[in-house]
Amino acid sequence: LMQLFRPLDMLGWVYRTIRQGLIDMADMFRLMDTSVEVEDAPGAPALVIRRPTVTFDNVSFGYDKDRQILHGLSFEAPAGAHIALVGPSGAGKSTIGRLLFRFYDPWEGRILIDGQDIREVTQESLRRAIGIVPQDSVLFNDTIGYNIEYGAPWGQGDPTPEAVRQAAADAAILPFIESLPNKFDTEVGERGLKLSGGEKQRVAIARTLLKDPPILLLDEATSALDSRTEQDILATLRNISCNRTTIAIAHRLSTIADADLINVMEAGRIVEQGSHNDLLRRDGLYAEMWSRQQNEDSAVPEAAE
Ligand code: ATP
Repeated sequence: LMQLFRPLDMLGWVYRTIRQGLIDMADMFRLMDTSVEVEDAPGAPALVIRRPTVTFDNVSFGYDKDRQILHGLSFEAPAGAHIALVGPSGAGKSTIGRLLFRFYDPWEGRILIDGQDIREVTQESLRRAIGIVPQDSVLFNDTIGYNIEYGAPWGQGDPTPEAVRQAAADAAILPFIESLPNKFDTEVGERGLKLSGGEKQRVAIARTLLKDPPILLLDEATSALDSRTEQDILATLRNISCNRTTIAIAHRLSTIADADLINVMEAGRIVEQGSHNDLLRRDGLYAEMWSRQQNEDSAVPEAAE
């Protein structure tokens, strides 16, 4: 019976949390993925970001104590830099994102943002600082405007219609919204207008922009977008990640070839680290993955600009 009630319970939680304006996609993921509750340290201060540097310092972690997933991982994303995590399926890339959001605490090591251990600050301030553009964007059965608005920072009042418009414009979805008879009041989701994968992702981008986070976590879509839409979305993401510390989880290497630093992961370890050109010269796992993907998809244009 509990099995039956858990999802209902969860929906209730989601609904209440949305009402409080607290939720974001990250919380949704947490609900889906986690049963562990991480708590704020007593009297924890808010995270204060002057320079949004993200540091993983010798981080080890597993979801279950008998199965270690990450093994002593270290990397740094300097303020404003664009770094990428690549590697085979199951290497631990998304796990890094979950640890950064503090859905779990590392077994060993530390994760620092601007020098502050994320275990020692409030989760609310931590999650406010990080925007996520997930692989598969989930929309609520509500208006398109609402779906953008709930990305607004909590406690700062409702976003102005101008701010919502601007976010939609920067996410390159404003012309689409304006073309709808009810514009921002158009109902979307199961009972309303069905959006394409690309449109949904743009709504998620607009939502993230409204939150205006100094750190962005991009979880690349593995499927669903045709290559033209994908190129358009990538261009939008490039625009919005300008001046923000960006961590991109990528499956297709062509999308991250211009990153400042690429971390190549395999079985929970960083096995190579460097720029695209460094890694090609190294002729290791990255070079192998690159050449395989080039062969697989001859439509992929060449490397980094
Ligand atoms: P992909 O490219 O396929 O998305 P990934 O590199 O992002 O893979 P992760 O999702 O980080 O890989 O998973 C790393 C390992 O952790 C996998 O072996 C996976 O089975 C395991 N794992 C992921 N989530 C959980 C969970 N909630 N509970 C237990 N194990 C998990």
